Amino acid sequence: MSISTIGSRLPHVGTSIFTTMSALAQAHDAINLAQGFPDFDCDAELQDLVHHYMRKGLNQYAPMAGVPQLRQAIAQKIARTQQISVDPEQEVTVTAGATEALFVAISALVRPGDEVIILEPAYDSYAPVVHLNGGRVVPIRLRPPHYRVDWDIVGRACTSRTRLIVVNTPHNPSGQILNDEDLLALETLAERYDCFVLSDEVYEHIVYDGQAHRSVLMRPRLRARSLAAYSFGKTFHNTGWKVGYCVASPLLMKEFRKIHQFVVFSVNTPVQYALASYLQAAQHWETLASFFQKKRDLLQASLAGLPLKPLPCAGTYFQLYDFSEASDLSDMEFACWLTEEKGVATIPVSAFYTDGFDARVVRICFAKKEDTLVRAAQGLRRAFCS
Ligand code: PMP
Ligand code: GLN
Repeated sequence: MSISTIGSRLPHVGTSIFTTMSALAQAHDAINLAQGFPDFDCDAELQDLVHHYMRKGLNQYAPMAGVPQLRQAIAQKIARTQQISVDPEQEVTVTAGATEALFVAISALVRPGDEVIILEPAYDSYAPVVHLNGGRVVPIRLRPPHYRVDWDIVGRACTSRTRLIVVNTPHNPSGQILNDEDLLALETLAERYDCFVLSDEVYEHIVYDGQAHRSVLMRPRLRARSLAAYSFGKTFHNTGWKVGYCVASPLLMKEFRKIHQFVVFSVNTPVQYALASYLQAAQHWETLASFFQKKRDLLQASLAGLPLKPLPCAGTYFQLYDFSEASDLSDMEFACWLTEEKGVATIPVSAFYTDGFDARVVRICFAKKEDTLVRAAQGLRRAFCS
């Protein structure tokens, strides 16, 4: 047998754009504003709590669905932030990051031949899991500058085979958020086609300018057919810990757990205890939006006057820039040029479209120290003003 006869389950999948651009940044000693992770540390209090629970001997398997204290703390947080009640016993499962929640949710629902609506630009982990489960991706193209969802277009793409609609709010990479009308339209479609909704809400606490996050959990009829995925990595600046959770109705959660138990069985025990204590001690997430809004504003101010046009950013820690006035290159070529020649790594947004749609937009991650953002802005100024 040769490698060519293996028959890849994902023949068209290569290395993710985040890995590719981070590697390029490293190779050229460029400032990495590409992959989405903070370059500052998470709270020492939270790190101390992990040590505390390790030293207390809480180092063996956690319960499959998650440590009860953490599931309770999550339910309390949801009650406080969304004014809704979820049952920590039956409706919350702690996962190995949101990535595992997304993988398990899609695997629990999608059967061979099912269609899954994905709004593009889309985070890279949805489509491969649909393919692994024998489903068909139905991409819907959203466009700059607003990347708004036209629900009539989504409705026309729905069929009797539509099994799942995937949404992401706040949205990576566009920074857009869904509002109440969007959720109503989504609910109407999901009911009309009797399908399910997977809502990726990992940036739920990072919404700017006084706006509020709208979760699929807030509408009872939508909630009944939805699974929602969250990430502590985004909320508490520890993407490397890979802890998140999924919220869904007891019926859906039962199916979710059937698969979760065979993917990881359970998640890092001392980190779960630490997160439970940290969540109960204070509402740390409440300052997150203003913390990141300052960074967004600093980035925008530092790049003002350059031929890089900032697109509206209502949430997440990503800012899109339209570079069409600055260069004729494709977005991939432009991002490589910026990294290799000018020392600043970004992400080309065409990578978020299955057909590589290139609107000449790159994504900058501003979850970085002020000093990093200022140094990157100086590099970009030199790139365009010399
Ligand atoms: N969804 C989106 C939209 C993301 O940006 C990320 C972060 N990379 C994830 C899911 C994955 O989250 P986690 O790191 O918790 O697996
Ligand atoms: N979510 C991060 C981003 O959008 C990347 C995570 C990853 O590298 N898989 O940049």
